[in-house]
Amino acid sequence: MSAPPSDSQPASRAVPSSVDVVVVGAGFSGMYLLHKLREMNLSAVAFEAGTDVGGTWYWNRYPGARVDVESLAYSYSFSEDLEQEYEWQERYPTQPEILRYARHVADRFDLRRDIFFRTRVNAAAYDEQGRTWRVRTEHGDAVTARFLVMATGCLSASKLPEIPGLDRFAGATYHTAHWPHEGVDFTGLRVGIIGTGSSGVQSIPVIAEQAAQLTVFQRTPAYSLPARNRRLRPDEIAAMKANYRAFRQAQKESGFGVPTPIPTKSALEVSDEERDATFERAWESGSLVNLLTAYADLSIDQAANDTAKRFIHRKIHQIVEDPRTAADLCPEYPVGTKRPCLDTGYYETYNRENVHLVNLRRTPIVEITERGIRTSDQAYEFDVIVYATGFDAMTGALTSVDIRGRGGASLDEAWSAGPRTYLGISSAGYPNLFMITGPGSPSVLSNMVVSIEQHVDWVTDAIAYLDHQGLTTIEPTQEAEDAWVDHVNLIADATLYPKANSWYMGANVPGKPQVFMPYAGGVGEYRKTCDEIAAQGYKGFALSV
Ligand SMILES: Cc1cc2nc3c(=O)[nH]c(=O)nc-3n(C[C@H](O)[C@H](O)[C@H](O)COP(=O)(O)OP(=O)(O)OC[C@H]3O[C@@H](n4cnc5c(N)ncnc54)[C@H](O)[C@@H]3O)c2cc1C
Repeated sequence: MSAPPSDSQPASRAVPSSVDVVVVGAGFSGMYLLHKLREMNLSAVAFEAGTDVGGTWYWNRYPGARVDVESLAYSYSFSEDLEQEYEWQERYPTQPEILRYARHVADRFDLRRDIFFRTRVNAAAYDEQGRTWRVRTEHGDAVTARFLVMATGCLSASKLPEIPGLDRFAGATYHTAHWPHEGVDFTGLRVGIIGTGSSGVQSIPVIAEQAAQLTVFQRTPAYSLPARNRRLRPDEIAAMKANYRAFRQAQKESGFGVPTPIPTKSALEVSDEERDATFERAWESGSLVNLLTAYADLSIDQAANDTAKRFIHRKIHQIVEDPRTAADLCPEYPVGTKRPCLDTGYYETYNRENVHLVNLRRTPIVEITERGIRTSDQAYEFDVIVYATGFDAMTGALTSVDIRGRGGASLDEAWSAGPRTYLGISSAGYPNLFMITGPGSPSVLSNMVVSIEQHVDWVTDAIAYLDHQGLTTIEPTQEAEDAWVDHVNLIADATLYPKANSWYMGANVPGKPQVFMPYAGGVGEYRKTCDEIAAQGYKGFALSV
C-alpha cells in the first residue's frame, strides 16, 4: 500500500507527565473538546496519529471526496464569530475545503499547541488506587490524566478486504482513507476499484474521467441520489447567517441533525402519482434527508420502503443504458438501511466506454494476483488497484487501543459480543472514560457535527459537575448500561435497519458481532434523554468522591 507522505510538523515538545484530560484524536471532536477544556481552565493534551487536524478530512483525500450534509449545516455552532466570519464556497464542499475549515478553526483557537501529531495512542489503563488513567503512546510516552476522552472517530479505522493475495499485486495500491497527499494521476492507467459505498460512489466518476479503463468490483450496490452540488450564492449565505441561531436550534431538535418537516403521511396512503411526485422532488433536491423523511413509514415498513426502492430502481434504469449493468446497480435491501450516498454523475459513469462493472455476487473475487484481480470467471489486469472498502466502523478505533478498566478488564474483550455503552458516551467498568459519538448514540445516523458538539458539551458539563461537587469519578452502573443497550436494540428492531448487511451492523468485518450499533431514535429525542439524565444528577451513573 502506498503510504501518504507526511506534512512537516516537528514534534519537538515534551509530552507532559500529568494533565486533567487526555484527548485521543484531533478531528472535529477532539478539536472542539480541546477548545472547551481550555475554556474551563483544565489542562489537556490531544494525541493525533495524523500530521494535522481534521480527522476524516485529513485522511480521506480520494478524488471526489465530499461531505453530503450541506456546508452551512455541517459546521461548528459553538462560536458565533466563527459562524459569521467563515465563508463556505460550495453547497457540498470537497475534502480540501473542509480540511481548510478545520485548519482555520485550529489556527483561530490556537489549538495546535496542545496537540501531539504523529502520535498514536496504543494503550490506556485505569489505576483504581490513584483514580487516574495512564495513557501510553506509540513513542513510549506516558501521561496520567483524571479523564480520558476517546475522540477517535466512528469511521477512522480503515478496512482492507479479506481476499487472498492482497500483497501480491505488483502495481500501486491505494485505500481511499489513506490517500497520498500529493494525489494520484490515473491518466492512461488501467484501474480496478473494489467497493461501491460512499467512497467508491464519490471517486468512481472522477477516476473514470482520467483512467484508460476503470473496472468496478461491486459486492453490494448503494442507493445514491444526485447531489446537485453548486457554489453557494451570497444571498443564501447571508440569509443563513442572519438566521443561524434558530437554524442551530432546529438542528438540535431534528431527527438527523438536519432540520426537515416531520412527515405525517404513510407512503401507502397516497396515490402513485402523489408519491412519485414527492420522491421526484426529493431526487431533484439533492438532499438525502428529503428522501429518507418523505414519508413517515419509510424506515419502519417494508411495503412503504419498497415504494422508494422501486422509484430509485426506475431512475437507475432510466440513466444506465445497458440493462444488465443497470440491474446490477439496483440494491435489494431497504432504502436507507445502509448508508445512502450523494453523487455527482455516478450512474452516468457506467455509460462510459472505459467503465465496466463486475457483479461480485455473480462472480466473486478469488484472489489478488501479481497482475490484477481474478474472479471466479475472469482474470483482470491492472496498473492500479483502489480499495474503497471502508472502515471497521464505530468500534474499530476504540478497540484497537488496549483500554483496560477496573481489574485490568479489556474493553475489546468486554465488547466481544458487540459494544456495550450507556448513552454511547461511557461504559461500565471504565470510570472517567468518555467516548465522543460512541456506539449507542445517534452518531453516524446524523449530521455528525451536531452530535459531536452535543457529546462534547455533555462530557465537559459532566466534568464541571464533578469538580463543582467535589467528586472524583463517574461511571455508568451495570443496570443503566444494560437497560440502554436493550433500549438501543428495541428501537433498532422496530426499524428496517437490521435487514441490511451494513457497516452499521458490523457486517463488513468478518467475525465482528452483528449488532446494530447506532441509536436510531433521532438526535432530538436522544439529546432530551441525555439532558434529563444530567439534570437528575447523572442518573444511571455512580459518582464517587
Ligand atoms: C469519506 C467520509 C465521508 C463522510 N461524510 C460525512 C457526511 O457527509 N456527514 C457527516 O455527518 N459525517 C460524515 N462522515 C463522518 C465523519 O467521520 C464525521 O462527520 C466527523 O468528521 C468525525 O469527526 P471525529 O473527530 O469524531 O472523528 P475523525 O474525523 O475520524 O477523527 C478521529 C481522529 O482520531 C485519530 N485517531 C484515532 N485513533 C487514534 C489513536 N489511537 N491515537 C491517536 N489518534 C487516533 C484519527 O487519526 C483521526 O484523525 C464521513 C466520513 C467519511 C470517512
